[in-house]
Amino acid sequence: MSLPKNSFLDYYYIDVSELSRVVKERKPSKILLQVPEGFKNRSYEIIDYLREILGGAEIHIDASPSFGSCLIDVGVAGRYDLVIHLGHRKYPYWSPPSNVVYVDLQSRTRPDHEVLTSLINDLRKHGYVRLAVYTTAQHVDLTKDIVKQLRSNGFEVVNKGVEVVFGCWFSSLDAVKDSVDAFLVVAGGRFHALGVGLRVGGSKEVISLDPYENAYCFLGEYVSRVLKTRFAKIMKSLDAVSWLIIAGSGGQYRPWIINELAKLITSSGGKYYVAVTSYLTRDLLIDVDSSTLDAIVITSCPRLPIEDFHDYEKPVLTPGEAFMALKKVFEPYVFPW
Ligand code: SF4
Repeated sequence: MSLPKNSFLDYYYIDVSELSRVVKERKPSKILLQVPEGFKNRSYEIIDYLREILGGAEIHIDASPSFGSCLIDVGVAGRYDLVIHLGHRKYPYWSPPSNVVYVDLQSRTRPDHEVLTSLINDLRKHGYVRLAVYTTAQHVDLTKDIVKQLRSNGFEVVNKGVEVVFGCWFSSLDAVKDSVDAFLVVAGGRFHALGVGLRVGGSKEVISLDPYENAYCFLGEYVSRVLKTRFAKIMKSLDAVSWLIIAGSGGQYRPWIINELAKLITSSGGKYYVAVTSYLTRDLLIDVDSSTLDAIVITSCPRLPIEDFHDYEKPVLTPGEAFMALKKVFEPYVFPW
């Protein structure tokens, strides 16, 4: 098909092989399209593209937040024959309804040769030879090439294939963390690289390679700073008596964590309340907060306390941090739960 200049599909490509198979099989007449945050305004080009492949099916845009494959509104999804969730892989902690199909959205953006050469030189300078390399769903093809390049330059990359991480799930990380010199994370921004750093408690260097910024960054100091802030929050909640537990929905509903927290809070003489929401904003938290509450723990998305509520006036903890505070065990740092 001919695309308008500067089309979304000039910068990304969609792997439609699985989608075509599903469409042939299910012949959907009503489709819901879920697109990652930041790309929603490009849904129209994507729909035009999909219409050419899928024929005359009615395609609606899901305008609710789509920060990850964990956050699918099962009620809304149930009204459609097919839900196309673009740009994320299946959330490993949750099985969505069977009408949801995950379709890869691969970025065409690549770092320059000079940036990769400089990264390789910097890794050598630091003596980081044995590496684990992770990425996000949008950069799998690019990461395959980067791993090849690292290997041909004498680096030992321990991953077998290209491994995708989520903000709260880290693939093979636990198995390899003690045997590598450093982690390389190919992703936009620092979000996923920080997650890797938190998961290993800052014990190893994490290098983030951002294809969009065409730059890389050693994040060790940044991870240490975040960890200091997190420990300060844990310390502030040691005497908390009255806790608010925030519960999520879909893949972010984690009853075993809520039950474990409830048990620990009551056995230490405290009390708890549970508030349920599928999408937590600062306004919503302020609205539900009260001066009678001492600490808040978010069991839905464990990145919210770190990214969105690190400056909140009272401690807002991840489940792992709340477990540390309630059990009074401060080593190692537990992330995410
Ligand atoms: S970090 Fe949050 S948004 Fe990302 S996969 Fe985990 S729960 Fe979902």
